[in-house]
Parts: sequence; structure tokens; C-alpha cells
Amino acid sequence: MTETVSIVKYTSSPDSMKKTIELCDGFKNLNPSDHVMIKPNLVAWDDQFPIAFFGVYTTTRLVEDLIICLKNFGCTDITIGEGSVQIKKNMGTFAAFEGLGYKALEKKYGVTLVDFNKSPTEAFTYHDEHQLHIAKEAVESDFFINFPVLKTHGQTKISLGLKNLKGCLKLKSRRHCHNPESGLEFSFSHIADFVKPSLTIIDGIYALEKGALHFGNAYRKDVIIASRDILGADLVGAQTIGYAAEDIDHFKHYATRNNKPLTINNYKITGEKIDDHIKPLKWDWTWTKDNTGPGIFEKLGITGVALPKYDETLCSGCSPIANMSSILALSAFKGQPLPNVEILNGKKMQARPGYDKTVLLGNCIIKANKENKDINEAIKAKGCPPSEKDVAEAMTTAGLEVNILAYYGFMKQQSEKYNGKEGYDQEFFKA
Ligand code: SF4
Repeated sequence: MTETVSIVKYTSSPDSMKKTIELCDGFKNLNPSDHVMIKPNLVAWDDQFPIAFFGVYTTTRLVEDLIICLKNFGCTDITIGEGSVQIKKNMGTFAAFEGLGYKALEKKYGVTLVDFNKSPTEAFTYHDEHQLHIAKEAVESDFFINFPVLKTHGQTKISLGLKNLKGCLKLKSRRHCHNPESGLEFSFSHIADFVKPSLTIIDGIYALEKGALHFGNAYRKDVIIASRDILGADLVGAQTIGYAAEDIDHFKHYATRNNKPLTINNYKITGEKIDDHIKPLKWDWTWTKDNTGPGIFEKLGITGVALPKYDETLCSGCSPIANMSSILALSAFKGQPLPNVEILNGKKMQARPGYDKTVLLGNCIIKANKENKDINEAIKAKGCPPSEKDVAEAMTTAGLEVNILAYYGFMKQQSEKYNGKEGYDQEFFKA
């Protein structure tokens, strides 16, 4: 049977959402008495340096439009569930719910808000030996609506429907997905087998280039893509930002396992023509040829220090400190070669020979390099993840005169970069 994917230009609320759902027959298997679960992407929350909303979070406006469509269909039992990554103390899922207007949705429509991080779990085995612990509410709903954002990602190239389901996992399993043995994309591609979304809607009001937490550049795109087939929605979403099916490893894993064709031609596309909405977006920053840091190091003539590019084993807890260490290294540069120091993160990087000191950021990388004979002097920032203070201290101990204020200034600039810019409307994130 040919599955349908709808693509609709967003023009008004809630009509554009209504049209997107109708064009893919999205409510075909929905009963008004169903317990409906909506899973938006509210990746993390940061009060100190607020993550700019655009292209990062599912727009509250479209979530509200979806609730209106569900209510008009007769649904009364609607829950919104997410498990945001806690990158700062007390900044969990409910901080994101609060900051993005979900409390108003709760009041207005009687929906229930659930923090998957606090849910009871069910364990699922994949690939014979690995386990994924998934929030019970995510697997037990009658009608699960997966609601990601159209964005690129520094480890997986894109982050759409299949990746958004990672937020249904318990923290332990999220970390497990980053294990070096089975690999990130192979691991998380299995979540859809257990959660089984009934409908996937991709929010493309904004699309994010070079995306990850505080970073990335958002573009106004004004499209909504939906399908009852998660892979179909993802294939179309990926194409609108310039990625073919074969570019994305987690598509391949999911398609092979589920015996699904990995081509967009096998889907019926309704609504807009995909070709009218393609704007290729880059997923990665440039890096130096010898993997010693971001491309800007080469541009500025920074030598001595080496920060190899993070790999897929770096989990979300440590991802802010990976970026932080690059910015701190930049702050230490005064036009002279920097100390001969290598700075590592994640779970599998191995210190290379020839450095006077090796800074190991986080418990995982400390463990991975325990026996490494190429290390002359190890400076360890312990923690899971290590604190900002410990990262800055470790780099200082290694001889880098870092300036934490430069990092704070950069983060502030990231938070405020869309302020006053045309088309970047905060009202999309209010109910
Ligand atoms: S130390 Fe960092 S990479 Fe390792 S599990 Fe903790 S947060 Fe993840």
C-alpha cells in the first residue's frame, strides 16, 4: 500500500495544520475516545543563557493548532509528553513546558503534561542484547503523535521524526544510545519499532542549519509535513533541507529492518510540490584538516592546542562543554602559539602522541584513556557531565589562559541573535 506524505505551506492557524492532517489522512486510525500522546521537541532548557527558540523547539502555535484539530475530532484525553535534557540544575522538562507556554495549553484545553524523565519505564530489547528503557506513557498511548522540528544535527546530519523519539528514553538509555559499540544512529533507529507513532508531523515554520542546543542558524520556512508513516515524513523533511535518503544512516537502519523502500518515489506526496520548498542546509561546521579544532582555528592561525571534533559518542549532557572548550581555547589566543595541549571528550577518542598535556573532559573519556601510553600528563575534569567550572579549571591547569567571560559573552550573543529580526516571531512560542 502506498503511504501518503502531505506538505503544506503554513499560512494561518489552525487551518494549515488541519489541511496537513487531512491531506495525509492523518486521523484515519484515530478514535475520539483514544488516549492521545503528543511528543514535541523541547530538547533542553537553560535559564542562564536561554536557547533561541527558532528551529530548536516545536512551535507552541502548531502544538495548539494540533490540539484544536484533536478537540474538533472529539478527543478529550490528550497528553503532551517530553523528556528534555537537563543541562543545568532544576532546568528539566517542566522548565521547558513553562517557558514555552505549555502551562497555558494545560489551562485552556485541559491537556495533561508529562515529564518522561520521571515516568515509569518499560524495557525493550533490540539487536538481541541491548536494552532501551522507554517511558511507559509513550508506549501505552493509543495514538502517538510525533512532532519534531525540521533541523540539522552535528552528529546525525538531521534530526526529524526518528531522532525526536529519543526524548521518550530514560536518561540511562539515552546515554546508552551513544555507546561506541552499536553506534548512535543504529541504536535510536529502534525506538520507533517500540513506540510506533500513529502520525508524524514535522514543524517546518523554522528550519535549523548546523543545529545543536544553543547553536545553529534558523531560517523561516513555513512548511508543515505529515504522514502516518514516520519514514515517509522524514524522507520528505530531509529532502526539503537538501538530504537524500542514502545520506542518512538511521534511515537506512530503520528501512532495512522494517523492509521499507528507501525512496521518496514510493510515497504519494500531496499538497505542495517538494521542489518548491527545497533549501539545502549544512549540518556541520568546518574543521581543520588535521582535526585539531573548528575551522576558525586555521583562519586565526591558532596552533599548539588541539580539540578534535566531537564524535557520535558525546551525549547531550557533555555537548555544551565540548562547545565551551572550543570557545575557551579561542579566548586564550593572543596571537602566539598556544600550549601543546590536546582536549578530548565523548566516550572513545584516544589521546594522540606528541602533546605535553591531555585534558580529559568527563568520566567517560577519562575511562577510555586510562591505559593510554601516549599521554604525558593527564588533566581530568571528572563528572557526568563535568561542571563548567571544572572544565575551565582543567584548561587553566593545562596552561591555557582562558577567559570564562568570553564564553558567557558568546552564549549571550547566541541567546539574543534573532532579537528584532524580521520573521523571528516569539509569538510562535506562546499559547
Ligand atoms: S561523561 Fe559525558 S559523555 Fe559520558 S555519559 Fe556522562 S554526559 Fe555522557
